[in-house]
Amino acid sequence: MMSRILLLLSIWIQPASAYASTFIGNGGNLMDGVLHSTLGAIAAANEQALKSDEELCACYGNSKQCALLSDLNHAQVAFCAAFIKSHAADLNKLLFKKSSVTFKWVANGLNEKGSSRAVDAITQKSNQRILIDENRFRDMSSADRIQLITHEFGHLLSWNGKDIGDVGAMGPFTGKDGARDFLDVLGAAYAIEAMRAEAILLESSDWSSPFYRLRVGITIGTQSESRRFRSSSFVDKDTDVINVSASYYQRPTSRFGLALRYIRESGGDSSTGVAAGFNRQLLYPGLEWRDLLLSGDTDHWLSPIHYSVMAGLGGGVVKHALQDDFNTYKGSKNAVGAYLELALHVPLTYGLFVNGTYSLQYLPYKISGLGIEQKSVVESILWGVSYGY
Ligand SMILES: [Zn+2]
Repeated sequence: MMSRILLLLSIWIQPASAYASTFIGNGGNLMDGVLHSTLGAIAAANEQALKSDEELCACYGNSKQCALLSDLNHAQVAFCAAFIKSHAADLNKLLFKKSSVTFKWVANGLNEKGSSRAVDAITQKSNQRILIDENRFRDMSSADRIQLITHEFGHLLSWNGKDIGDVGAMGPFTGKDGARDFLDVLGAAYAIEAMRAEAILLESSDWSSPFYRLRVGITIGTQSESRRFRSSSFVDKDTDVINVSASYYQRPTSRFGLALRYIRESGGDSSTGVAAGFNRQLLYPGLEWRDLLLSGDTDHWLSPIHYSVMAGLGGGVVKHALQDDFNTYKGSKNAVGAYLELALHVPLTYGLFVNGTYSLQYLPYKISGLGIEQKSVVESILWGVSYGY
């Protein structure tokens, strides 16, 4: 168990530059870390394959990859095992830093050359580039990702001095899809080796994905007001806050998005002999930026944990009331302010997350008739849930 945790951690904290680089031209994709984790697991599988006593390209479990290997005949198993032994060093060269391989995320789907058949990835041998459909990659298990990327790396290897395509027979893998079938088998064998190396979890999980386009949520908590505000407003208690949030990202893998916060703040106190109360209804449109805390094997619950930073400008209506034994005094004001929020999102299942939010708000206003003044930056801590899809 301990070694497995260490291995998972080593893949997580592996600097992004350790493996072949991703290149998309616009600087960083939220899923880069997942791809690096996949490359790390393939590297671990490669190492495992060379030192393992267990039979390569064979297994007796009930995973999807195992089912594929179980269908092979003896000649196919032997061919696959021999291929791995003889190509492991070449594969290593493709995996690591000095590799000439680059990756490109594609948002709008990929079709096989000259056909309408949708595929998860395409390898361009001439420029050593692997194109990956980011939506499909996102929805895969760790084992499926290893199988896919190993298949694509297979196109960058050669066999008997020839390129490996998808069409035609390859050794004991006969028929017009022989080569494609072999690369799928090779990918499955690497997924199994990654499991044997404990580089990925054996079972895929259903943790909510951090790669969503829209997130809505609600958080509640309290805000501590300034001393000056407390004494002038006669409310010497923390303010109750309800925060309803929506954030939109153009792609499930975008880091920058648009955000909107509706915030309702209210307070009341009668301990001083004066019944005082207020409420503020505020709207902050703004921008949000997000990133993963650790990335890594997405089947592990730590991986989808992410954080967001949101900054907005807006404001709304503030209403105050004071009441003594004889009179009620009311005042209201339109206020303009700025809002900054840092939120941590911890995955549950079904797209849900638990949130912890820390925010700062600057909403200066003065209600002269009541002598109430608010001019400090106030902090709030909120807890809640959100749903991303
Ligand atoms: Zn292929």
